[in-house]
Amino acid sequence: MILTEETYYSREADTAFFSVSQYKSFCRCPAATMARLRGEYEPPTNTAFLVGGYFDAYFDGSLERFKAEHPEILVTRGERKGELKSEFRQAEVMIERAKSDKLFMKFMSGEKQKILTADLFGAPWKCKLDSFSEGICITDLKTCQSFGTIPRYRYDIQGAIYQKIAELNGYGRLPFYLAACTKETVPGLRIFQMPNEVLDLALSEVESNMPLFIAMKNGEEEATHCGSCDYCKSTQDAEIHSYLELLA
Ligand SMILES: [Zn+2]
Repeated sequence: MILTEETYYSREADTAFFSVSQYKSFCRCPAATMARLRGEYEPPTNTAFLVGGYFDAYFDGSLERFKAEHPEILVTRGERKGELKSEFRQAEVMIERAKSDKLFMKFMSGEKQKILTADLFGAPWKCKLDSFSEGICITDLKTCQSFGTIPRYRYDIQGAIYQKIAELNGYGRLPFYLAACTKETVPGLRIFQMPNEVLDLALSEVESNMPLFIAMKNGEEEATHCGSCDYCKSTQDAEIHSYLELLA
């Protein structure tokens, strides 16, 4: 399958390829991941995710399309009807702040949304790079509540996979950066370089999990339920548990 801007996020593409988000989804809940692949479950998009999407869309030049595809970002009633909801006005503040910073914009000046694929750990993978500067670096754009919250999102896994896929495509081992902008009232900007030691560790973690995830995706292993996500809660029957579990 040939991946394009139009087909990249399709269910067909997700079935044919692993991606960082699919890998992370398998880590969280294999059952929910497989239900999505079968087209039986679609998690609701939350506002925080949409704010990130709005910010990203400005940088890859697709903001007008994003606005057209997401009418829910506008106020639907009252005096402010038709205006951007407050979260997205905040995204506008973030964009203006980022635009005014030379270094931030330099990191975001590479080729946008470059799609790459490669075979890795026994499966085909796809990735889409926010900013790719051949021979220089790969940069991923991030919005965050504060810089301190960044590690919990495991962008080291993303960096490791992006770097490896670029390397397998003949681009060499490029440094991986996060261009981060906080959602604080006064947005903070910072560029984080992800050390190769951190990426190596993340890549070996992915490698050790892949045989199981491939087997689950192929239907050779049962896709286990995490038991606590919205998909599991909505599909699993009630069970008897000991009250002591709650005290542990
Ligand atoms: Zn689950």
